[in-house]
Amino acid sequence: MAGPIDRNSDSNVREAQAKFAIACASRTIESPRPISSAYIHVPFCRHRCGYCDFTLVAGRDDLIDRYLAALATELSTIADPSPLQTLFFGGGTPTHPSAEQLRRLFQIVENRFRFAPGIEISVEANPLDLTDEKINVLTTAGVNRVSLGIQSFDDAALKLLERDHRVDDINDVVQRLQRQIPNVSLDLIFAVPGQSLASWRDTLRRAIDLEPAHISTYGLTWETGTAFFTRQSRGELAAVDDGLERDQYALAMEELAVAGFEHYEISNFARPGYRCRHNMVYWQGNEYYACGPGAARYLAGRRETNVRSVTGWLAKLERGESPVAETETLELDHRARELIYLGLRLIDGICLTEFHQRTGYDLRTFAADAIRVTQSHGWLELTPTHLCLTPAGRFLADRVVAEFL
Ligand code: SF4
Repeated sequence: MAGPIDRNSDSNVREAQAKFAIACASRTIESPRPISSAYIHVPFCRHRCGYCDFTLVAGRDDLIDRYLAALATELSTIADPSPLQTLFFGGGTPTHPSAEQLRRLFQIVENRFRFAPGIEISVEANPLDLTDEKINVLTTAGVNRVSLGIQSFDDAALKLLERDHRVDDINDVVQRLQRQIPNVSLDLIFAVPGQSLASWRDTLRRAIDLEPAHISTYGLTWETGTAFFTRQSRGELAAVDDGLERDQYALAMEELAVAGFEHYEISNFARPGYRCRHNMVYWQGNEYYACGPGAARYLAGRRETNVRSVTGWLAKLERGESPVAETETLELDHRARELIYLGLRLIDGICLTEFHQRTGYDLRTFAADAIRVTQSHGWLELTPTHLCLTPAGRFLADRVVAEFL
């Protein structure tokens, strides 16, 4: 149940990785670690929120059983999966299917993979889906991390975002969930039209009061093709001004630091020991398997992206055809730039030694021009061991990263 896509969105990482322009292969690099992470895309929602451009279908629950059968087919193509260290169910809304369908979903995945001891199993969830029965299904399946799309403690913002829950629903669901799965992450959205700095502060503080293990804060973006984009073009909705958005992001960093959260990625804050291990795999540029409509996986130096259309993906698998729409072999230079693009999202930045080990390049030489330009603006810091965004650079992450592409 992802939020909007912008510099702050985890799903944006997956999409950007999928879209990366790759030339013919001259030399490829291998991941330093065995494959140990998998992403399952569950493309169903009750309604498509006006700002959302993710791969999903809304109001098509009639497709869920076909989806489960097709997912089993796609998973059957994995040769000999290693024991997984992380497993992530994203969407769409993975908790939208019925409790019985959810049970089957977990069974299908469990039948195909082996789980390493201590595996992190994350599920994105919508507050109103989480009946006691569904929470029991998650618990029984071994889910030990839930990312809950509460988005705001302001009913006006929730209504504008077209969310189906209201503020009064939040406390109860979070507390019921935490009793069984303590590792709960709350997704929050800022830069919502009409949302004041005071309202955002209230949202942050009420979220902190619920004592989640992790909080993600996403700035609302206006993606081409969304209902919000159309409404903006018609003058019916307007983005908040840059100054307010900046102040809201700064406030999140301030409030969450005071509350004891570590800011470890542009949009992600965790209590010590609760960083999302699965998303760290993406940001560290490691390999991962992914399946479902529109899913992109990165294995053995190749990126494969599935057909984005849900019905197209279903049809391919039902005909016994591969659901892969694009295959790209990553050229070393592009791969190196991607490691920079991803690594700069991490507050710790990119380790110069590790970058050299993985690419053969000295980062300071490879990206000398971009480093010089961004350092001159005060956006990047080069220490003896790392390249990382400065606090000022975090506000302009997209712009900084663009210098390296
Ligand atoms: S709940 Fe809304 S924002 Fe989340 S994936 Fe579904 S349509 Fe998109």
